[in-house]
Amino acid sequence: MIDTQVFNCCGKAAENGTVLAGRIIRSGGLVAFPTETVYGLGANGLDGEAVRKIFAAKGRPDDNPLILHIAKKSDVKELWTHVPTLARQLMDTFWPGPLTIIFNRSDIVPDEVTAGLNTVAVRMSENKTALALIRSAGVPIAAPSANISGRPSPTTAKHVADDLGGRIDVILDGGPCKFGIESTVISIVGRPTILRPGAITREMLETVIGHVELAHSITEPLSDDEAAESPGMKHKHYSPNAEVIIARGSKKRMADIIRREYDAYEEEGKRCVIFASEETEVYYRGRRYDVLGSLNDRASMCAALFSKLRQYSDIVDVIFAEAIPTEALGLAYMNRLLRAAGFKVLTD
Ligand code: AMP
Ligand code: MG
Repeated sequence: MIDTQVFNCCGKAAENGTVLAGRIIRSGGLVAFPTETVYGLGANGLDGEAVRKIFAAKGRPDDNPLILHIAKKSDVKELWTHVPTLARQLMDTFWPGPLTIIFNRSDIVPDEVTAGLNTVAVRMSENKTALALIRSAGVPIAAPSANISGRPSPTTAKHVADDLGGRIDVILDGGPCKFGIESTVISIVGRPTILRPGAITREMLETVIGHVELAHSITEPLSDDEAAESPGMKHKHYSPNAEVIIARGSKKRMADIIRREYDAYEEEGKRCVIFASEETEVYYRGRRYDVLGSLNDRASMCAALFSKLRQYSDIVDVIFAEAIPTEALGLAYMNRLLRAAGFKVLTD
């Protein structure tokens, strides 16, 4: 066990925390920090030994590559073989922001970061604390989400402390994350392909670079070919201890399915909760439910999802959730929910 220091980065003392944390990164330590997506667990991205500590602290499978975080766009030049026009267009439009771009790696990127792949994922966050930390460290920071592998990603400093307290050197507390789901990951090695949907939606990307493919693994279990391309997607993800079951159909059909299953599980003595929306909560009065947000504001549903999965992880046996349409942000929401549920969907 190590003594994990927590620094509040919302107030005046913010700079002290990022300066000290930058020093810790340079000397090979681990720092959790806020981004606009979820909290990241960072180490010096050019130091293979420091990067190995991330895998150990998280219990992360060592074939799952990490994202390198940079503080200015031009830093990408030293990490990729070159910067293609497509990348430049994406960077100019969406950086800083929740978009991770995968392209061919340069020689300075350690194998530990890429899990042996010839490509590397790079991102420039818009979060001020994240940027200050990277500048203070003076190196790209390798950072996956700051949770124990397999658990829902952390969207507050408390979530990080719950999972990694005693295993890492510092937590920078920047308050709750703005988006609450991880970055969009796009590979531009071949045809532009979204490997993981996020707040930068397919629709937004297509307005800038034209047609963008979607990896099948976004809404389906992974084939072997895809596992090789996108190793992160083959591992168990976002799972609370409670079982998650999704219902799909019209609002009314979903509510019928969920009420029926809820009652059957309760009859067996199981504790249940329903993840509802402002539009559907009326169906669940008299049962235990929680409202994640409005169907007309999918950002609010995304921002709440991981936090609610954690909140109910150990206090119920079953979480019922409603499927939402997969346009725009709905795709990111359903991608995380389907994985949390192990693709268990009731349609009837
Ligand atoms: P995390 O930071 O934990 O949210 O995970 C980063 C995601 O990016 C995982 O799904 C990784 O598999 C994916 N990723 C990172 N680098 C690469 C790469 N070079 N090729 C394909 N996927 C990658
Ligand atoms: Mg993760």
